[in-house]
Amino acid sequence: MWQLYKIQQLDQNLEELKTQKENLDKSEELLKSIKEMEIQIKEDRDTLLKNQIKMKDLELEVQSLEENHKRIEQKLYTGNSTNIKELSGWQKETEQISQKKFKIEDRILDHLEEQEKLNLKIKQEEEKLTQLQDNYHKIQIKLEEELKYLNELIKNTQGSRDKLAQSLEEDLLQTYEEIRLRKGGIAVVRLQNGNCGGCFMNLPDSIINRVKERRLIFCNNCGRILTEQ
Ligand SMILES: [Zn+2]
Repeated sequence: MWQLYKIQQLDQNLEELKTQKENLDKSEELLKSIKEMEIQIKEDRDTLLKNQIKMKDLELEVQSLEENHKRIEQKLYTGNSTNIKELSGWQKETEQISQKKFKIEDRILDHLEEQEKLNLKIKQEEEKLTQLQDNYHKIQIKLEEELKYLNELIKNTQGSRDKLAQSLEEDLLQTYEEIRLRKGGIAVVRLQNGNCGGCFMNLPDSIINRVKERRLIFCNNCGRILTEQ
């Protein structure tokens, strides 16, 4: 019975180790954060690119307005025309062009400001991403070590368990497995001051004596196998 008790301890260790192994991988959350950050950076880079293209367009527009302005001014100041109406028309046109140019330049400034903000944001996001990737890498290394350790431990425990099981009768092992299934993983319990170590009921002397004779005896209350202290 004592060997069976030892087997039970090893079985419990194995279950514990397997649970530990299942709970080992906690890096999924981190991987999700990395993916999200990569998507965010890509989005921001796209926005930045669109912004740059828009700015280029606006700059070209300013350039064309400036050329236009220059052309009209030349007409104004070369004095080829003396027609007042025509002259004031040109004057008005240059003023309109200037106003339009100022408005576009304001928009360019807005875009510039947005670009600066975006550049800073991307820089911070990239730093964060590097940090996340470093963490992930470190965790992977640590996980691998822990997994290796746990696998080794499981292998050794399983080995001891199998070796011990070989020395026991098949029927006894089967009874043990059946009780374990029914009784929450505990099939063999020790006597505790005349009580069953599983359900804590007081046991009759006849049962206690037979346990001490190292026979296969079950608790008359919970049905578990009893063994000496
Ligand atoms: Zn009992």
